[in-house]
Amino acid sequence: MKVAVFSTKAYDRQFLEAANSLTQLSTEETSTKQCLHELVFFEPRLSRDTAILAAGFPAVCVFVHDQVDASTLEILASQGTRLVVLRCAGFNNVDLQAAADLGITVVRVPAYSPYGVAEHAVGLILSLNRKIHRAYNRVREANFSLEGLLGFNLNGRTVGIIGTGKIGLILGQIMKGFGCQILAYDVYRNPELEKLGGKYVELPELFANSDIISLHCPLTPETHHLINAETIKQMKSKVMLINTSRGALIDTQAVIEGLKSRKIGSLGVDVYEQESELFFEDLSGEIIQDDVFQRLTTFPNVLITGHQAFFTEEALHNIAETTFANISDVEQGRPCPNEIRAQPEVEAKALVG
Ligand code: NAD
Repeated sequence: MKVAVFSTKAYDRQFLEAANSLTQLSTEETSTKQCLHELVFFEPRLSRDTAILAAGFPAVCVFVHDQVDASTLEILASQGTRLVVLRCAGFNNVDLQAAADLGITVVRVPAYSPYGVAEHAVGLILSLNRKIHRAYNRVREANFSLEGLLGFNLNGRTVGIIGTGKIGLILGQIMKGFGCQILAYDVYRNPELEKLGGKYVELPELFANSDIISLHCPLTPETHHLINAETIKQMKSKVMLINTSRGALIDTQAVIEGLKSRKIGSLGVDVYEQESELFFEDLSGEIIQDDVFQRLTTFPNVLITGHQAFFTEEALHNIAETTFANISDVEQGRPCPNEIRAQPEVEAKALVG
C-alpha cells in the first residue's frame, strides 16, 4: 500500500524502512530486498494545512502530535485516503467518530515500550534523588562541592504508583528490587502487583504515605489534573513527583506553587500539558513563549525530558513491525486486532499516550 508518513524524523525513517524491507533469497543465493509497502516520508505534522501532501495516498501514518481532527479527515477522505495508521498507542489526536462517518479505518500500536517507559521513570527518580543532573554540570566546571547534593536511600521508602497496568507494574517490580514499599491506586486491581506485595489503597492514603509518587494512568476526563492544589496538600512534605504518562495529569501551575513552598521536594516529568508546542523540535535558537514551562526549568529540583521515555531501539522496532502488520491486515481484508473504533468504552481509554 502507498503510505504517506507524517512527522518523520531520521530515526522513524531508519526503523520504518528496515521493517518494510523483506529479504528474499534468489536461486543463486544472492539476497534481494523487496518492500512490503511504498513509503513516502514527510517532515511536517499532519493537519488540515498539510493534508494536501497525502493526495492519492490510500494510507497516512501519524504520531502523537499530528492533528487528525474532523476537518483534516474530510480533506484526506476527499483525496482518497481510507486508512489512518497511528505509530503510537494514544489516539486522543484522532476524531474517531469523524473517521467512522467518512469510512476511514484507524489502527494503532497498543504497546511497544513498557520497560522503556518504566526504566525512564526510574532514571528520573535516581537522578533527582542523587542530583546527578547537577553533579554532572558541577564536575565539568571543577566544582567538587557536595553542598546541595544530599539524597536519601531508596531502600525502605514508599513509592505510590497511580495506574498499575503494563508500565506501572514494571515500575513496581523495579522499585521492589530497590527495597521500596509499594502503594498502588487503580480503578482495576492488578493481581501481579499484589503478588509483589504491593498494597492497593485509596488515593488520599497513597498521597499521605508516599515518598515518591509516579503516574502511570491514562489521561481521561477523570484523571485530568489529578495532581492539583488540593491533592498536593494531602501529600507528604518533600514528596517526589514523577510523570511519564500525560502532561495534563498535572496542574502545572499548582505544582509550581508546591515547588515554591517546598511541599514538593522534586519533580521529574517526561510529558507536559502544552508539549505539542515544544517537544520533538530543536528550539534552541528560538524564544520560548511558554512562561509556565520556562518557570519549571528554573528549579534545581526539576528534571524535564522531552517525551523520550518510550525512545528505545526495542520500541522503535516494535512500533515499525506492528505498523506494517496493521497495514497489511487492512490491505488484505483481514481483521486487524489493533483497529480502533468510536465506541463509548474505547473513548474512555482514548487518551493513552
Ligand atoms: P495500561 O493501559 O497498561 O495501564 C493504564 C492503567 O491505568 C490501567 O491499569 C488502568 O486501569 C489504569 N487507569 C485507568 N483509569 C484510571 C484512573 N482514573 N485512575 C487510576 N488508574 C486508572 O497503559 P500503559 O501501557 O501502562 O501506559 C500508561 C501510560 O503511560 C499511558 O497512559 C501513557 O499516557 C503513558 N505512556 C507514555 C509514554 C512516554 O513515552 N512518555 C509512552 C507510552 C505510554
